[in-house]
Amino acid sequence: MISLQPDFCDIEIPEKEHYSIEDYSSSKARWCSGCGAHTILHSVQKLCTDEQLPPEKTVFVSGIGCSSRFPHYMKTYGFHGLHGRAFPVASGIKFRRPDLHVFVITGDGDCCSIGAGHWVHAIRYNMKMVVLLFDNSIYGLTKKQTSPTSPLGTHTNTHPTGSVLPPINPIQSTLGLANVSFVAQTVDWKPAHLNATLKKAYDHPGLAFVRIVQRCPIWMRENYEPTVKDPDAITVLNHENGIVLEENALKKFRHIQEHDPSNLVKAREVAELVKTTTPIGLFYQNKEAIRYDEYGAHNLGVPVEDRINAINSLMDKYAI
Ligand code: SF4
Repeated sequence: MISLQPDFCDIEIPEKEHYSIEDYSSSKARWCSGCGAHTILHSVQKLCTDEQLPPEKTVFVSGIGCSSRFPHYMKTYGFHGLHGRAFPVASGIKFRRPDLHVFVITGDGDCCSIGAGHWVHAIRYNMKMVVLLFDNSIYGLTKKQTSPTSPLGTHTNTHPTGSVLPPINPIQSTLGLANVSFVAQTVDWKPAHLNATLKKAYDHPGLAFVRIVQRCPIWMRENYEPTVKDPDAITVLNHENGIVLEENALKKFRHIQEHDPSNLVKAREVAELVKTTTPIGLFYQNKEAIRYDEYGAHNLGVPVEDRINAINSLMDKYAI
């Protein structure tokens, strides 16, 4: 007889007294030199260290793409899955194991194209997890095909004369979804803002969606270099309930716009700024949005033992 044991996930692992950044670092990252993913990896490892997340209680789930190699470089649990399928895997993990710290790593192709259906419903389910959308506006792993966020007219291998459809705005799209509870944007080359955004996302009680504008110097250098080099190209969204930077860090930005992240209508207006500038900060937060993982934590009213007995009895039907 095949049998699941009710206590299969209750093994006690003694926790270390202190985790250093090395406790989260696995093999050497194999992204290209200058790729923005390196700084995001470092920032995430810093967050894990600052929050002292036990590695055996932390899991990174990814789909397919350059960014999705991320779990290999974390010394935590990881699941490098199928293209576009990070959200349902992460949702399943969180639903069954609400005690775990769950992170989703996805790219613009992974999230906004093949995984778009899962993106919509993950936002609506609002399970507590941090979602990092590494948006380089190109399919980098497969060597420069048009992605759903490629700017109009981008010359790629699939559109040699220039892409013909307007890009998806992931911030605007997410802000339009039912039960959305946290939407932020940052860039990989401003570490103070990146770190503060990750911390704010981690502290959010539901699903925190963070789009990170990410440099791909191999295939999209022309797309990012003007923003990286021009101090006027970024607008910081500022508010006491938003992503708060220290005064010295804030002073480095020339354009600062006050924005109250509790105002969803205004957040949608601010998301339109992407046509003229790169807005970074917290667009929207609602800590009271309904969380589906809270139903999972209560096992939908059915004790774990009863559910496992039901699965065992079903499996027995097919056992030889
Ligand atoms: Fe990074 Fe671009 Fe290289 Fe992929 S192709 S690893 S996104 S620089």
